[in-house]
Amino acid sequence: MKYAIVAKEDLKTKEVKEKVLKEIKLTYDEKNPDLVIALGGDGTIIKAIHKYPKATTFGLHTGHLGFYANYGVSDLEILINDINNNEFKVNETSLISCEIETLDGKKIFDNAINEITIVTPLRTMMVDVLIDDIFFERYRGTGLCISTPTGSTAYNKSLNGSVIDSSLNVMQLTEIAGINSNAYRTLSSPIVLDGKRTIKLASGAHFDDVFITVDHISYDIKNFKSLYIKYKGESVKMAYHKYEGFLERINRTFLVSKD
Ligand code: NAP
Repeated sequence: MKYAIVAKEDLKTKEVKEKVLKEIKLTYDEKNPDLVIALGGDGTIIKAIHKYPKATTFGLHTGHLGFYANYGVSDLEILINDINNNEFKVNETSLISCEIETLDGKKIFDNAINEITIVTPLRTMMVDVLIDDIFFERYRGTGLCISTPTGSTAYNKSLNGSVIDSSLNVMQLTEIAGINSNAYRTLSSPIVLDGKRTIKLASGAHFDDVFITVDHISYDIKNFKSLYIKYKGESVKMAYHKYEGFLERINRTFLVSKD
């Protein structure tokens, strides 16, 4: 088994990284690792998953314990022991996938662990929302966010979307400053959709310049035609030592301070 590290650049994380490099007995291989140790925050863990989607990810939070991290700094010895002795367990986290198509026929494919957004920060966006290829609404506003269950506590939560139990196979569509008046009408509230459904956003008239984000990655799309989103199911392997359920995770991330 080979491993790699993806780490934040701060001093505390560098110290943790040095200890990991010294004590892990596996071969270090940045090209084709079986295991990836992500040192930092949820942001670092997400970047590690995008870089090595097929590897098993060990998330160790070097700040406050984040939503995806299964190890904190005080668990460093446990993490090292889990890897050296192959004693860890694995559960799987869901992704959503997207296909971006431009008017000149180019296609971009990507997967998100948190969310996919489509935004026009400076102009009013107009897109037709189709669910299962059936017209649902014509949306006008700043943008739309489609999140996974585990991503529901990230940007989606700031948009007043619901927090979703991570055991559910669903995706959530949330508006980013939607316009609602006698002239323009959308659902306004977030909608949670069965994972078997598909969401298609198709460019409205006179509108073709958008930003599409896939977690931390941003695509500047000049000739936007459509964005097609599907729930991909559980496909990211996350290592853990002691199982922590969804409610405990929500509780310690948002409700109970450790201080
Ligand atoms: P980032 O710094 O990596 O992430 C932004 C913040 O969101 C960090 O505090 C991060 O926690 C936290 N976070 C990430 N995933 C989470 C999750 N599933 N549940 C709870 N908190 C989570 O920012 P970035 O590099 O631009 O990465 C993009 C991410 O930022 C997106 O996936 C999006 O969810 C989030 N974002 C949020 C807003 C908003 O809330 N207004 C706006 C844009 C983007 P750590 O400190 O542990 O890394």
